[in-house]
Amino acid sequence: MESTLIPQTTSVPIVERGEPLVVLTDVNKHYGDLHVLRNISTSVARGEVVVVIGPSGSGKSTFCRAINRLETIDSGTITIDGKRLPEEGAELAKLRADVGMVFQSFNLFAHKTVLENVTLGPMRVKGMSKKAATDRAMTLLERVGVANQAQKLPAQLSGGQQQRVAIARSLAMSPKLILMDEPTSALDPEMINEVLDVMVELAKEGMTMIVVTHEMGFARKAADRVLFMADGEIVEDQTPEKFFTAPSSDRAREFLAKIL
Ligand code: ADP
Ligand code: MG
Repeated sequence: MESTLIPQTTSVPIVERGEPLVVLTDVNKHYGDLHVLRNISTSVARGEVVVVIGPSGSGKSTFCRAINRLETIDSGTITIDGKRLPEEGAELAKLRADVGMVFQSFNLFAHKTVLENVTLGPMRVKGMSKKAATDRAMTLLERVGVANQAQKLPAQLSGGQQQRVAIARSLAMSPKLILMDEPTSALDPEMINEVLDVMVELAKEGMTMIVVTHEMGFARKAADRVLFMADGEIVEDQTPEKFFTAPSSDRAREFLAKIL
């Protein structure tokens, strides 16, 4: 695999860190009586890689989905690149195009080829020509190591290959940010590394990423910060070194004792 995942033509922001790209302020979300996000305030700077970990049910997926506006919030604000999340309509579609999302379950279009999966968004949402979208898709598929699978249907690929296609599809939209929700959890063990390698490359190249994962190797190698969530709260916000060697809360210590 080549070392650069991002073609020269993309507008992926490879810029200095520091400037906040995503800002959450006092975000609350309930499902009925369940308070699933409790006063979440945090920000993610451009180029930053943030790993979110925590027990099942702690609100990690809801946190990601709220940032992409796949879920509404009850109170608080979320801004991306200084813009508040719109409620609906064309503005929301535009904002969604800026935020890539990679799910545990790949979510490729089953009846479209791998190539079509990657060209569809840029053609429909960005109005790119078929030729330009195809050229770009092939470059991205090459970079994630699945160009030779371009004419196949997703079901003909392994899970690891499908997830790499999902990452290429997300990159094709030139997102400002990529959210990944347990991207390797559905994979057979032997395929986890091929996906993690792609994620590490992306991180190195300056992509802003929020990644929910229990892959501590990835967190150690690529994360700038670890957010530890429990019961809808961000309990810790630490560097990976600090978090793994000296977590400051009992809840994090208990959690780490279970998974490490
Ligand atoms: P995590 O990703 O950390 O496992 P989630 O964000 O998926 O946690 O879920 C947080 C809590 O909200 C869990 O208790 C879950 O059962 C609940 N929950 C998630 N989605 C819904 C929903 N659509 N309706 C009702 N409850 C939900
Ligand atoms: Mg989840």
